[in-house]
Amino acid sequence: MTGDDAVTAFRRGLIRLYEDGLHRRFVFRYWRELEASQWQPLEQLQAAQFDRLRRFLLRVQVTSPWYGATWRAGGLDPRDLHVPADFQRWPVIDKDIIRTHRAAMRSTAPGVTLIAKATGGSSGVPMRFDLDTDSNEQRMAAWHRGYQWAGAGPGTRQWYLWGVAPSSSAAWRKRKARLYDRLYRRTTVSCFDLGEATMQPFLDSLVRTRPHAIVSYTNAIYAFARMLEAKGCIPPSPRSVVVGAEKLHDFQRETIERVFRAPVFETYGCREFMLIGAECEHHSGLHLTMENLLVELLDDDGAPVAPGVEGNVVVTDLTNLGMPFVRYPTGDRAIASPVPCPCGRGLPLLEKVTGRRLDMLTTPDGRILPGEFFPHILKEVTAVQRFQVIQERADTIVVKLVAPGWTTGNEEWFRREVSAVAGSAVRLELQLVDQIALTAAGKLQVVVNRLATPGRAENA
Ligand SMILES: [Zn+2]
Repeated sequence: MTGDDAVTAFRRGLIRLYEDGLHRRFVFRYWRELEASQWQPLEQLQAAQFDRLRRFLLRVQVTSPWYGATWRAGGLDPRDLHVPADFQRWPVIDKDIIRTHRAAMRSTAPGVTLIAKATGGSSGVPMRFDLDTDSNEQRMAAWHRGYQWAGAGPGTRQWYLWGVAPSSSAAWRKRKARLYDRLYRRTTVSCFDLGEATMQPFLDSLVRTRPHAIVSYTNAIYAFARMLEAKGCIPPSPRSVVVGAEKLHDFQRETIERVFRAPVFETYGCREFMLIGAECEHHSGLHLTMENLLVELLDDDGAPVAPGVEGNVVVTDLTNLGMPFVRYPTGDRAIASPVPCPCGRGLPLLEKVTGRRLDMLTTPDGRILPGEFFPHILKEVTAVQRFQVIQERADTIVVKLVAPGWTTGNEEWFRREVSAVAGSAVRLELQLVDQIALTAAGKLQVVVNRLATPGRAENA
């Protein structure tokens, strides 16, 4: 063990003392269990997951008034679950149901302590929900395990480029965030503030921190990497860069790895469930947190899709009895991998998260532009630092660009590429801007389709 590793181990001990001793939380116990179960064969994990699902639904049936009544009305009884396929008869819920029935969904069991949470969301209407304290501990354990794969477990020195609480938030909340940062050895800078003016102070902070791991929103670290590269700045190299909260494109991974000279680890999660999947050292997909979460990939009619085929991500959280999520679509789309990971873990892989449902744009003559399209072509233009594509009307696509040095040659080429795919029925409006507003959660929404059904577009 090097001196540095010894410090990491010591700091991990402190965190454990704080969580287990002071708060009487079971985070580290759950984590130990997850460290062991990840190596079990897939069949064993699946059997345990189905068993847990059955027991979970039996509890929900009698403790959650809304689910109990809804299932009864639909003639559904968890005692009739004999094989995993039986679960497909259960209804898929949505955000509107949670908005309307949140109180009646909550557990009536005694002794349940709820933590209130909210997701941001592009429609500007946040969705509020609850989780119980035990669920919180189990999801923290899953977070520790996934980040440990990336060399960013508790105790390591970390530099966060993340959405931090706005300056208007309560003083106690800020104090608590600072305490957590110190305990977890995190230095956090706000991705809300990232720009040309803050590049140097952010770089200074990174140099001072010398982190084992950088943890960031995908688009923020990508933008930061582009700025550093454009200015010829060489940042310190961490052991790993963990990205999350937004989809990672291949070209972004290449750029981030080139600039920071460290492997990128993609994670996938959301406010409702925390870590759903994360890459291990083999980077061959994202291992699912299947002990805690049942993740289904379904087509638009609700039927399961085969591995290798893109589907809607639908999650049942097996830990949260306080306010259950049973078959809840996250709004993302993903592809399951047909093959196991060479690392030997039994946890199955998502081959990739392909993006959110609404990443697609449509044209009046019925063409569909996949979400990948604009990132794919705009990455060719070095002048582009950030962009956002917005469709508010069927016949117009607005592209906002932060691109100092954008030329008429760039514009001609771009219009040609877009019309080749989108056809002539749609008008392309280009806006060169200084800044693009982030969402309330500090994320860059790359493609915004305001034509789609409201309420389905939200994400953590
Ligand atoms: Zn693996």
